[in-house]
Amino acid sequence: MPVVRVDNLTFRYNGIDVLSNISFAVEKGLYLGIVGPNGSGKSTLIKNILGILRPEKGRVELFGRPLSDFRQWERIGYLPQRLSALNTHFPGTVEEIIQMGLSKKDQDTLTRTLKMMAIAHLGSRLIGELSYGEQQRAMLARALIRRPELLIFDEPTTALDPETREMFYSLTGEMNRQEGTTVILVTHDIGVIGEYARNLLYLDKKVIFSGTFKEFCSSRDMAGIFGPSSQHIICHQHDRTGGTI
Ligand code: ADP
Repeated sequence: MPVVRVDNLTFRYNGIDVLSNISFAVEKGLYLGIVGPNGSGKSTLIKNILGILRPEKGRVELFGRPLSDFRQWERIGYLPQRLSALNTHFPGTVEEIIQMGLSKKDQDTLTRTLKMMAIAHLGSRLIGELSYGEQQRAMLARALIRRPELLIFDEPTTALDPETREMFYSLTGEMNRQEGTTVILVTHDIGVIGEYARNLLYLDKKVIFSGTFKEFCSSRDMAGIFGPSSQHIICHQHDRTGGTI
């Protein structure tokens, strides 16, 4: 049973197709990169998967259940593109916000997570008083401390400062490898994603490519779309996933 299944999904803004007939499945333990140019519908797809937007046609299943029946949101950690989507003016401390809604509050785990994010010294500060980079780290800690089975990150490379970004990539990679956490990472930067994701969905209003990085690299169609030299650069520059490409 896939963690996410998208079946023949079409979404429109003002009568114009932004996503057309999108179908793919994300199996448990996958690290999927969703890439595509700006405006290709990546954020719209994520919002359809999370039920923030409703498709015109098609369906989404999460953990084997239709989206309309799905209630176990604690299984999913989502970090949106912009923090403004989260209320950073909420009058709570960093620790309170990170632990909000957790049924089991574990001081050791909290301390470890704060340390990991290099915000151990900020635990009792109000979230609204922190710098943007510090707020990003706090929201990342909030997503990770829940140990979700599925992590969805929308374009973190633009939302995160460079240091946090590196930390973020290594942490999500570790969670994926060691705990089998399924990760969906959205970015417009195909070069970056090649370093981390084993699977790739290339979107441009429709699915241009869906498969493993290895398949992407040996695909003649993709060489046709990207040009053989770009494909070569993308495929040979990066290999931190442990596989041979
Ligand atoms: P990406 O995440 O790949 O950059 P988006 O999903 O944000 O792309 O946007 C896909 C398309 O939908 C773009 O053409 C964008 O202009 C359009 N779009 C996004 N949000 C809205 C909106 N709220 N109303 C109308 N069009 C929108």
